Amino acid sequence: MTMISPQPGIMDIKLYQGGASHVAGLENVVKLSSNENPLGPSDAAKEAFRRASHDLHRYPSSDHSRLRAAIGEVWGLDADRIICGAGSDEIITFLCQAYAGPGTEVVHTEHGFGMYKISALAASATPVEVPERERVTDVDAILAACTDKTRLVFIANPNNPTGTMISEGEVLRLAEGIPDAALLVLDGAYAEYVEGYDGGAALVDARQNVVMTRTFSKIYGLGGLRVGWGYGPQHVLDVLNRVRGPFNVSQAGLNAAEAAIRDTSYTDHCRRENARCRTWLADALAEIGVPSDVSCANFVLARFASEDEAMAVNAHLNTQGLLVRPVGSYKLPHCLRITVGDEASCRRVVTAVRIFKNGS
Ligand SMILES: *Cc1c(COP(=O)(O)O)cnc(C)c1O
Repeated sequence: MTMISPQPGIMDIKLYQGGASHVAGLENVVKLSSNENPLGPSDAAKEAFRRASHDLHRYPSSDHSRLRAAIGEVWGLDADRIICGAGSDEIITFLCQAYAGPGTEVVHTEHGFGMYKISALAASATPVEVPERERVTDVDAILAACTDKTRLVFIANPNNPTGTMISEGEVLRLAEGIPDAALLVLDGAYAEYVEGYDGGAALVDARQNVVMTRTFSKIYGLGGLRVGWGYGPQHVLDVLNRVRGPFNVSQAGLNAAEAAIRDTSYTDHCRRENARCRTWLADALAEIGVPSDVSCANFVLARFASEDEAMAVNAHLNTQGLLVRPVGSYKLPHCLRITVGDEASCRRVVTAVRIFKNGS
Protein backbone atom coordinates (compact mmCIF):
# COMPACT_ATOMS: atom_id res chain seq x y z
CA MET A 1 0.00 0.00 0.00
CA THR A 2 1.40 3.36 -0.98
CA MET A 3 0.74 6.57 0.90
CA ILE A 4 0.99 8.48 -2.35
CA SER A 5 -2.41 9.56 -3.58
CA PRO A 6 -3.81 12.30 -5.82
CA GLN A 7 -6.14 15.09 -4.74
CA PRO A 8 -9.80 14.18 -4.09
CA GLY A 9 -11.91 13.85 -7.22
CA ILE A 10 -9.14 13.06 -9.66
CA MET A 11 -9.65 9.28 -9.61
CA ASP A 12 -13.39 9.87 -10.25
CA ILE A 13 -12.58 11.27 -13.70
CA LYS A 14 -13.71 9.05 -16.57
CA LEU A 15 -11.16 9.44 -19.35
CA TYR A 16 -12.36 11.63 -22.22
CA GLN A 17 -13.14 9.59 -25.32
CA GLY A 18 -12.44 11.44 -28.55
CA GLY A 19 -14.23 10.68 -31.79
CA ALA A 20 -13.02 7.53 -33.55
CA SER A 21 -10.72 8.04 -36.53
CA HIS A 22 -10.02 4.47 -37.70
CA VAL A 23 -11.94 1.36 -38.68
CA ALA A 24 -9.90 -1.84 -38.62
CA GLY A 25 -9.20 -3.01 -42.17
CA LEU A 26 -10.59 0.05 -43.93
CA GLU A 27 -8.73 2.90 -45.58
CA ASN A 28 -10.15 6.26 -46.63
CA VAL A 29 -12.65 6.48 -43.82
CA VAL A 30 -14.74 9.64 -43.57
CA LYS A 31 -14.42 11.06 -40.08
CA LEU A 32 -17.66 12.68 -38.95
CA SER A 33 -17.10 12.06 -35.25
CA SER A 34 -15.31 15.17 -33.94
CA ASN A 35 -17.10 18.14 -35.53
CA GLU A 36 -14.08 19.07 -37.62
CA ASN A 37 -14.44 21.39 -40.61
CA PRO A 38 -14.58 19.13 -43.70
CA LEU A 39 -13.13 21.97 -45.80
CA GLY A 40 -10.07 22.34 -43.54
CA PRO A 41 -8.43 25.64 -42.60
CA SER A 42 -8.07 28.64 -44.90
CA ASP A 43 -5.08 28.73 -47.26
CA ALA A 44 -3.83 31.81 -45.40
CA ALA A 45 -3.70 29.82 -42.16
CA LYS A 46 -1.80 26.97 -43.81
CA GLU A 47 0.69 29.42 -45.27
CA ALA A 48 1.21 31.09 -41.87
CA PHE A 49 1.82 27.67 -40.33
CA ARG A 50 4.43 26.83 -42.99
CA ARG A 51 6.21 30.14 -42.43
CA ALA A 52 6.40 29.43 -38.70
CA SER A 53 8.62 26.42 -39.45
CA HIS A 54 11.56 28.82 -39.91
CA ASP A 55 11.45 29.87 -36.25
CA LEU A 56 10.84 26.63 -34.40
CA HIS A 57 13.87 27.25 -32.17
CA ARG A 58 12.27 30.43 -30.80
CA TYR A 59 9.96 30.50 -27.81
CA PRO A 60 6.52 31.78 -28.72
CA SER A 61 5.07 35.16 -27.82
CA SER A 62 4.05 35.03 -24.18
CA ASP A 63 1.45 37.81 -24.33
CA HIS A 64 -0.25 36.66 -27.57
CA SER A 65 -0.67 40.34 -28.42
CA ARG A 66 -0.92 39.91 -32.20
CA LEU A 67 -3.58 37.23 -32.04
CA ARG A 68 -5.53 39.09 -29.35
CA ALA A 69 -5.42 42.26 -31.45
CA ALA A 70 -6.70 40.35 -34.49
CA ILE A 71 -9.54 38.76 -32.51
CA GLY A 72 -10.37 42.18 -31.03
CA GLU A 73 -10.50 43.80 -34.48
CA VAL A 74 -12.57 41.10 -36.15
CA TRP A 75 -15.12 40.79 -33.34
CA GLY A 76 -15.01 44.36 -32.01
CA LEU A 77 -13.73 43.33 -28.57
CA ASP A 78 -11.34 44.81 -26.02
CA ALA A 79 -8.09 42.90 -26.74
CA ASP A 80 -6.92 43.48 -23.14
CA ARG A 81 -9.71 41.24 -21.91
CA ILE A 82 -8.93 38.32 -24.23
CA ILE A 83 -6.88 35.31 -23.08
CA CYS A 84 -5.54 32.61 -25.43
CA GLY A 85 -5.16 28.97 -24.52
CA ALA A 86 -4.18 25.55 -25.87
CA GLY A 87 -7.69 25.05 -27.17
CA SER A 88 -10.67 26.40 -25.30
CA ASP A 89 -10.28 23.28 -23.15
CA GLU A 90 -7.39 25.07 -21.48
CA ILE A 91 -9.54 28.13 -20.74
CA ILE A 92 -12.09 25.80 -19.11
CA THR A 93 -9.24 24.28 -17.07
CA PHE A 94 -8.02 27.73 -15.98
CA LEU A 95 -11.53 28.71 -14.88
CA CYS A 96 -11.94 25.58 -12.75
CA GLN A 97 -8.43 25.83 -11.33
CA ALA A 98 -8.92 29.49 -10.40
CA TYR A 99 -12.54 29.55 -9.20
CA ALA A 100 -13.47 26.02 -8.13
CA GLY A 101 -11.93 23.72 -5.55
CA PRO A 102 -12.78 21.42 -2.64
CA GLY A 103 -16.20 22.17 -1.19
CA THR A 104 -17.41 24.16 -4.20
CA GLU A 105 -19.84 23.21 -6.98
CA VAL A 106 -19.60 23.46 -10.75
CA VAL A 107 -22.92 23.32 -12.60
CA HIS A 108 -23.28 21.84 -16.07
CA THR A 109 -26.21 20.49 -18.07
CA GLU A 110 -27.27 16.88 -18.55
CA HIS A 111 -26.08 16.64 -22.16
CA GLY A 112 -23.29 19.20 -21.73
CA PHE A 113 -19.71 18.96 -22.99
CA GLY A 114 -17.67 16.35 -21.09
CA MET A 115 -14.76 18.65 -20.27
CA TYR A 116 -16.79 20.67 -17.72
CA LYS A 117 -17.14 17.70 -15.41
CA ILE A 118 -13.55 16.53 -15.98
CA SER A 119 -12.08 19.97 -15.22
CA ALA A 120 -14.28 20.37 -12.13
CA LEU A 121 -13.13 17.02 -10.74
CA ALA A 122 -9.51 17.81 -11.61
CA ALA A 123 -9.87 20.88 -9.38
CA SER A 124 -11.40 18.70 -6.60
CA ALA A 125 -14.71 20.53 -6.99
CA THR A 126 -18.12 18.81 -7.11
CA PRO A 127 -19.77 18.69 -10.57
CA VAL A 128 -23.54 19.19 -10.46
CA GLU A 129 -25.51 17.87 -13.43
CA VAL A 130 -28.79 19.63 -14.29
CA PRO A 131 -31.54 18.08 -16.48
CA GLU A 132 -32.34 19.62 -19.84
CA ARG A 133 -35.83 20.02 -21.26
CA GLU A 134 -36.12 17.84 -24.36
CA ARG A 135 -32.42 18.32 -25.15
CA VAL A 136 -32.51 22.09 -24.57
CA THR A 137 -30.75 23.98 -21.76
CA ASP A 138 -33.29 24.65 -18.99
CA VAL A 139 -32.54 27.97 -17.29
CA ASP A 140 -35.04 27.41 -14.46
CA ALA A 141 -33.54 24.00 -13.67
CA ILE A 142 -30.04 25.50 -13.59
CA LEU A 143 -31.12 28.33 -11.30
CA ALA A 144 -32.84 25.81 -9.01
CA ALA A 145 -29.62 23.76 -8.81
CA CYS A 146 -27.46 26.71 -7.76
CA THR A 147 -26.43 26.94 -4.09
CA ASP A 148 -24.11 29.11 -2.03
CA LYS A 149 -21.35 26.68 -3.04
CA THR A 150 -21.80 27.30 -6.79
CA ARG A 151 -18.76 29.00 -8.33
CA LEU A 152 -19.11 28.21 -12.05
CA VAL A 153 -22.07 27.54 -14.36
CA PHE A 154 -21.13 26.15 -17.78
CA ILE A 155 -23.41 26.15 -20.79
CA ALA A 156 -22.48 25.67 -24.42
CA ASN A 157 -24.65 27.77 -26.77
CA PRO A 158 -25.16 26.18 -29.27
CA ASN A 159 -24.76 23.03 -27.21
CA ASN A 160 -22.77 19.94 -28.12
CA PRO A 161 -23.99 17.21 -28.73
CA THR A 162 -27.60 18.46 -29.03
CA GLY A 163 -26.99 21.34 -31.47
CA THR A 164 -29.76 23.33 -29.77
CA MET A 165 -29.48 26.91 -28.59
CA ILE A 166 -31.24 29.17 -26.10
CA SER A 167 -32.14 32.81 -26.79
CA GLU A 168 -30.20 35.88 -25.67
CA GLY A 169 -33.07 36.66 -23.31
CA GLU A 170 -32.73 33.26 -21.65
CA VAL A 171 -28.96 33.66 -21.31
CA LEU A 172 -29.49 37.09 -19.72
CA ARG A 173 -32.01 35.61 -17.29
CA LEU A 174 -29.40 33.01 -16.33
CA ALA A 175 -26.68 35.63 -15.83
CA GLU A 176 -29.02 37.71 -13.67
CA GLY A 177 -30.25 34.77 -11.62
CA ILE A 178 -27.10 32.89 -10.60
CA PRO A 179 -25.67 33.48 -7.10
CA ASP A 180 -23.39 36.46 -6.52
CA ALA A 181 -20.34 34.21 -6.05
CA ALA A 182 -20.82 32.40 -9.36
CA LEU A 183 -19.50 33.03 -12.86
CA LEU A 184 -21.52 32.08 -15.96
CA VAL A 185 -19.33 30.55 -18.67
CA LEU A 186 -20.75 30.71 -22.21
CA ASP A 187 -18.94 28.13 -24.32
CA GLY A 188 -19.14 29.45 -27.88
CA ALA A 189 -17.26 26.66 -29.66
CA TYR A 190 -19.95 26.73 -32.39
CA ALA A 191 -20.85 30.43 -32.25
CA GLU A 192 -19.37 31.17 -35.69
CA TYR A 193 -21.87 28.80 -37.28
CA VAL A 194 -24.73 31.06 -36.19
CA GLU A 195 -25.09 33.97 -38.60
CA GLY A 196 -24.92 37.32 -36.82
CA TYR A 197 -24.33 35.85 -33.35
CA ASP A 198 -21.62 37.35 -31.09
CA GLY A 199 -21.30 34.30 -28.85
CA GLY A 200 -22.40 36.35 -25.85
CA ALA A 201 -19.67 39.01 -26.15
CA ALA A 202 -22.09 41.91 -25.55
CA LEU A 203 -23.32 40.24 -22.36
CA VAL A 204 -19.70 39.84 -21.19
CA ASP A 205 -19.18 43.58 -21.79
CA ALA A 206 -22.37 44.49 -19.94
CA ARG A 207 -21.74 42.48 -16.77
CA GLN A 208 -19.13 41.36 -14.24
CA ASN A 209 -20.19 37.70 -14.00
CA VAL A 210 -20.05 36.33 -17.56
CA VAL A 211 -17.12 34.78 -19.43
CA MET A 212 -17.16 33.52 -23.03
CA THR A 213 -14.89 30.78 -24.44
CA ARG A 214 -14.19 30.30 -28.16
CA THR A 215 -12.08 27.98 -30.27
CA PHE A 216 -10.11 27.72 -33.50
CA SER A 217 -10.84 23.97 -33.60
CA LYS A 218 -14.25 24.07 -35.26
CA ILE A 219 -15.15 26.52 -38.07
CA TYR A 220 -11.51 27.63 -38.44
CA GLY A 221 -10.41 24.02 -39.00
CA LEU A 222 -7.38 24.15 -36.70
CA GLY A 223 -8.20 21.45 -34.12
CA GLY A 224 -4.78 19.88 -34.59
CA LEU A 225 -3.00 23.07 -33.50
CA ARG A 226 -4.81 23.60 -30.18
CA VAL A 227 -5.77 27.27 -30.04
CA GLY A 228 -8.74 28.73 -28.21
CA TRP A 229 -9.57 31.93 -26.39
CA GLY A 230 -11.65 33.47 -23.66
CA TYR A 231 -13.23 36.90 -23.14
CA GLY A 232 -14.29 38.25 -19.79
CA PRO A 233 -14.45 41.17 -17.38
CA GLN A 234 -11.12 42.64 -16.27
CA HIS A 235 -11.25 41.10 -12.79
CA VAL A 236 -11.50 37.61 -14.31
CA LEU A 237 -8.65 38.24 -16.77
CA ASP A 238 -6.48 39.42 -13.88
CA VAL A 239 -7.07 36.01 -12.29
CA LEU A 240 -6.78 33.79 -15.38
CA ASN A 241 -3.56 35.43 -16.55
CA ARG A 242 -1.99 34.43 -13.22
CA VAL A 243 -2.64 30.73 -13.72
CA ARG A 244 -1.78 30.68 -17.44
CA GLY A 245 1.71 29.41 -18.29
CA PRO A 246 3.73 32.01 -20.22
CA PHE A 247 4.24 29.81 -23.32
CA ASN A 248 0.94 27.92 -23.37
CA VAL A 249 0.27 28.39 -27.11
CA SER A 250 2.83 27.60 -29.84
CA GLN A 251 3.93 30.30 -32.27
CA ALA A 252 2.76 28.19 -35.21
CA GLY A 253 -0.66 28.01 -33.56
CA LEU A 254 -0.77 31.74 -32.84
CA ASN A 255 0.25 32.65 -36.41
CA ALA A 256 -2.13 30.23 -38.10
CA ALA A 257 -5.01 31.36 -35.86
CA GLU A 258 -4.35 35.01 -36.62
CA ALA A 259 -4.40 34.34 -40.36
CA ALA A 260 -7.53 32.22 -39.99
CA ILE A 261 -9.55 34.79 -38.07
CA ARG A 262 -8.60 37.56 -40.50
CA ASP A 263 -9.79 35.48 -43.47
CA THR A 264 -13.41 36.37 -42.85
CA SER A 265 -14.56 35.57 -46.40
CA TYR A 266 -13.40 31.96 -45.95
CA THR A 267 -15.19 31.74 -42.59
CA ASP A 268 -18.36 33.06 -44.26
CA HIS A 269 -17.99 30.45 -47.00
CA CYS A 270 -17.63 27.66 -44.39
CA ARG A 271 -20.70 28.91 -42.50
CA ARG A 272 -22.82 28.95 -45.67
CA GLU A 273 -21.62 25.53 -46.84
CA ASN A 274 -22.30 24.06 -43.41
CA ALA A 275 -25.82 25.51 -43.33
CA ARG A 276 -26.59 24.20 -46.82
CA CYS A 277 -25.32 20.66 -46.16
CA ARG A 278 -26.83 20.58 -42.66
CA THR A 279 -30.31 21.36 -44.00
CA TRP A 280 -29.92 18.72 -46.69
CA LEU A 281 -28.68 16.10 -44.21
CA ALA A 282 -31.37 16.75 -41.59
CA ASP A 283 -34.17 16.77 -44.20
CA ALA A 284 -32.93 13.61 -45.90
CA LEU A 285 -32.66 11.78 -42.57
CA ALA A 286 -36.14 12.95 -41.55
CA GLU A 287 -37.53 11.58 -44.82
CA ILE A 288 -36.29 8.12 -43.93
CA GLY A 289 -37.71 8.32 -40.42
CA VAL A 290 -34.71 9.63 -38.49
CA PRO A 291 -35.65 12.88 -36.72
CA SER A 292 -33.31 15.47 -35.23
CA ASP A 293 -33.67 18.79 -33.44
CA VAL A 294 -32.98 21.91 -35.53
CA SER A 295 -29.20 22.22 -35.25
CA CYS A 296 -27.42 25.56 -34.90
CA ALA A 297 -23.95 23.98 -35.20
CA ASN A 298 -21.94 21.80 -37.60
CA PHE A 299 -23.50 18.49 -36.61
CA VAL A 300 -26.88 16.84 -36.42
CA LEU A 301 -28.04 14.72 -33.49
CA ALA A 302 -29.91 11.89 -35.18
CA ARG A 303 -32.47 10.13 -32.98
CA PHE A 304 -33.27 6.45 -33.39
CA ALA A 305 -36.01 4.26 -31.96
CA SER A 306 -33.75 2.69 -29.36
CA GLU A 307 -30.17 2.32 -28.19
CA ASP A 308 -30.04 -1.02 -30.03
CA GLU A 309 -31.03 0.59 -33.31
CA ALA A 310 -28.53 3.44 -32.85
CA MET A 311 -25.73 0.95 -32.16
CA ALA A 312 -26.69 -1.18 -35.16
CA VAL A 313 -26.75 1.86 -37.46
CA ASN A 314 -23.40 2.94 -36.07
CA ALA A 315 -21.93 -0.50 -36.79
CA HIS A 316 -23.34 -0.43 -40.32
CA LEU A 317 -21.93 3.06 -40.97
CA ASN A 318 -18.53 1.81 -39.76
CA THR A 319 -18.58 -0.99 -42.34
CA GLN A 320 -19.13 1.71 -44.98
CA GLY A 321 -16.11 3.66 -43.72
CA LEU A 322 -18.30 6.32 -42.11
CA LEU A 323 -17.37 7.32 -38.55
CA VAL A 324 -19.97 9.14 -36.47
CA ARG A 325 -20.24 9.65 -32.73
CA PRO A 326 -22.30 7.46 -30.39
CA VAL A 327 -23.30 9.69 -27.48
CA GLY A 328 -24.24 7.25 -24.72
CA SER A 329 -21.74 8.98 -22.44
CA TYR A 330 -23.79 12.17 -22.94
CA LYS A 331 -26.93 10.36 -21.75
CA LEU A 332 -28.24 10.07 -25.31
CA PRO A 333 -27.77 6.34 -25.99
CA HIS A 334 -30.46 6.26 -28.72
CA CYS A 335 -28.72 9.02 -30.72
CA LEU A 336 -25.77 9.40 -33.06
CA ARG A 337 -24.05 12.74 -33.51
CA ILE A 338 -23.14 13.20 -37.15
CA THR A 339 -20.77 16.00 -38.15
CA VAL A 340 -21.93 17.85 -41.26
CA GLY A 341 -19.35 16.77 -43.82
CA ASP A 342 -19.00 17.88 -47.41
CA GLU A 343 -21.90 17.15 -49.74
CA ALA A 344 -20.54 13.75 -50.85
CA SER A 345 -20.10 12.58 -47.25
CA CYS A 346 -23.63 13.67 -46.32
CA ARG A 347 -25.01 11.69 -49.26
CA ARG A 348 -23.03 8.61 -48.24
CA VAL A 349 -24.37 8.80 -44.68
CA VAL A 350 -27.98 9.10 -45.83
CA THR A 351 -27.60 6.27 -48.35
CA ALA A 352 -26.09 3.99 -45.70
CA VAL A 353 -28.80 4.77 -43.14
CA ARG A 354 -31.52 4.27 -45.77
CA ILE A 355 -30.13 0.90 -46.80
CA PHE A 356 -29.91 -0.13 -43.16
CA LYS A 357 -33.52 0.85 -42.48
CA ASN A 358 -35.22 -0.12 -45.73
CA GLY A 359 -32.82 -2.56 -47.28
CA SER A 360 -32.55 -0.38 -50.41
C1 LIG B 1 -15.11 21.15 -29.59
C2 LIG B 1 -15.58 21.86 -28.38
C3 LIG B 1 -14.73 22.71 -27.67
C4 LIG B 1 -13.39 23.04 -28.24
O1 LIG B 1 -12.35 22.43 -27.65
P1 LIG B 1 -10.88 22.90 -28.05
O2 LIG B 1 -10.13 22.58 -26.80
O3 LIG B 1 -10.91 24.36 -28.31
O4 LIG B 1 -10.48 22.11 -29.23
C5 LIG B 1 -15.21 23.36 -26.56
N1 LIG B 1 -16.49 23.21 -26.17
C6 LIG B 1 -17.34 22.44 -26.84
C7 LIG B 1 -18.75 22.35 -26.40
C8 LIG B 1 -16.91 21.73 -27.96
O5 LIG B 1 -17.75 20.95 -28.62
